[in-house]
Amino acid sequence: MDERGLNIFNNLERMKIGLDDKFKFECHMCAKCCLHRDDVLLNPKDIYNAAKELNLTTGEFVEKYCEAYIGSDSRIPIVRLKPRGSVHRCPLLKDRKCMVHRSKPTVCAMYPIGRCVILAGKTAADIDMDSVQYIFNKPDCRGSDGPETHTVREWLESFGIPIGDKFFILWQKSVTKVGSAFREIEKKISEETMEILWNAAFVGLYLHYKTELDFMSQFEENVQNFTTMLHSTFGDMLEGRE
Ligand code: SF4
Ligand code: SF4
Repeated sequence: MDERGLNIFNNLERMKIGLDDKFKFECHMCAKCCLHRDDVLLNPKDIYNAAKELNLTTGEFVEKYCEAYIGSDSRIPIVRLKPRGSVHRCPLLKDRKCMVHRSKPTVCAMYPIGRCVILAGKTAADIDMDSVQYIFNKPDCRGSDGPETHTVREWLESFGIPIGDKFFILWQKSVTKVGSAFREIEKKISEETMEILWNAAFVGLYLHYKTELDFMSQFEENVQNFTTMLHSTFGDMLEGRE
C-alpha cells in the first residue's frame, strides 16, 4: 500500500462521509495537486476514456503516460500515471492544464472525495452498493478554505459519476476475485508462469478495448473471458475459494 493509501486506511473512521453530508471546498485551478503525484491509479475505464480523448489506442496511452506494477497486497497488476521530473509532475499536466480535462481519471474528478469498498469479511460475490464508503480527504491547499459547500451526492453528480456506479462495483468484484485467485496460484506455480498470468491480466482487463466501441460491454466481456480462463486453467488450485 502506498503512503496515501496507508494514511487513508489508518484514518478511515475520521475521514468517512455520507452521501448527503456536506463538505467545504472550492478549487482555484492552480494545478498544484498535479505535482508530487506518484499515486494517480487508473482503472480500465479511466484508461479507455483518456485514450479516447487523446485519440490514442489504450496500448499507446499506457505506453506513453503510465507504468504498471504488481500490487504488494493485492497481487494484481496496478496501473498508474508515471510522474515526470524532479517535481513528480503528472504526465498529463501541460501548460498548467489537464490534457484530459473532460475525462479526468476518477480519482482526480472526485477529489477531494474518495471512494472505497469495505470488505469486512465479504467475498467478491457479496460486494454491492451498500459496501461502498465515501471519504473526505481534506485538501492541504487553498481549496479547503471554501467557501463553497457541497454534498457528496451533488459533487459526484456534477462530474457525471453515478451513485449506483455499475462499473465500480464490477471492477471491485473483479479485482477482489482475481486478487484472491492470484495469491493462491502464486504459491503453486513458477515465477515465469506467474509473469505470463500477470501479463494476461494486464492486457485482458486494462488494454483490450477499442475506443470506438462502447466501454461497458467490452469490460463485461473481458472480465468474463479472463475469469473463465482462470478457472478452466487453474480450477484445481482454486477449489473451495471464491
Ligand atoms: S485542489 Fe487545491 S491544489 Fe488542486 S487545483 Fe484545486 S486549489 Fe489547486
Ligand atoms: S490526470 Fe489531470 S487532474 Fe489528474 S493529476 Fe494529472 S493533470 Fe492533474
